[in-house]
Amino acid sequence: IERLRRGLARTSAQLSSQITALFTKRRLDEDTLQDLEDLLIQADLGVETALRITDTLSSERYGKDVTGEDVSRIMAGEITKVLSPVAKPLELDLNHKPHVILVVGVNGTGKTTTIGKLAAKLSRSGLKVMLAAGDTFRAAAIEQLHIWAQRTGADIVSSKLGSDAAGLAYEAYEKARASGHDVLIIDTAGRLQNKKELMAELEKIVRVLAKLDPDAPHTVLQTLDATTGQNALNQVEIFRNIAGVSGLVMTKLDGTARGGILVAISAKHKLPVYFIGVGEGVDDLEPFNARDFAEAIAG
Ligand code: GDP
Repeated sequence: IERLRRGLARTSAQLSSQITALFTKRRLDEDTLQDLEDLLIQADLGVETALRITDTLSSERYGKDVTGEDVSRIMAGEITKVLSPVAKPLELDLNHKPHVILVVGVNGTGKTTTIGKLAAKLSRSGLKVMLAAGDTFRAAAIEQLHIWAQRTGADIVSSKLGSDAAGLAYEAYEKARASGHDVLIIDTAGRLQNKKELMAELEKIVRVLAKLDPDAPHTVLQTLDATTGQNALNQVEIFRNIAGVSGLVMTKLDGTARGGILVAISAKHKLPVYFIGVGEGVDDLEPFNARDFAEAIAG
């Protein structure tokens, strides 16, 4: 919780200083409510949640003096209500051997790093983990994944640069099944510049996996970079359609002033948030807790 608070300190500091300025010696009227609404929308919380907060505040305090604390309390409460239904941990169905986790997302949003952190968590809990370096377009991505495999003791399957990602996914699945791995985590390319190709590639991976196990991939995890703000909202839209995303991990929540975007995404898409990334280290992947997050933002 301490780390989350530190991570979201900029989001919360920016908001609370603005809120304090807004409510210094002011009665709650239409103007203040409008100003507050604007401020909450600028903080990336989304129109829907901004309105919920101003409506609640208005019904409790209209015409009366309002303090920054009143606003924080109501904000935390309303944000918690939005986030509670999506705070669902990643659940593995170990009847499937391997349980396949397909990791998708735009390049740079933290796919490889999140796979490494997740592999560490799962390995530590006693599961046998295999990684597949399915971003066959970037040498750096393949290299990074090898480093994470070494660091976490996970096994890894990779192929030559430029080779077919679906073929690699197939090979990795067969190997993982033959050698009794519990979990297979597949990295993918996230070249949004070429949406058609990206779509074709992801669809092919999903198709190939479904041939091996009709329920696979069992989890489609999308990584989102908190620092990209509103862009993250569009990215969910795109990958949801292409890959049938089952849940999200928001990365880089350490030190960004844009953590509010997770609230807007949750209100709109209602997808589970499995984890949040709060740093580059192996232990910087935390379970998502709605109230902690809401309070860390509301200050
Ligand atoms: P990919 O291209 O989607 O595979 O993204 P990477 O995993 O390579 O991550 C891109 C950059 O973001 C790397 O420098 C990571 O170290 C960094 N990164 C990933 N997750 C986090 C996070 O939670 N916090 C911070 N501060 N950096 C992160």
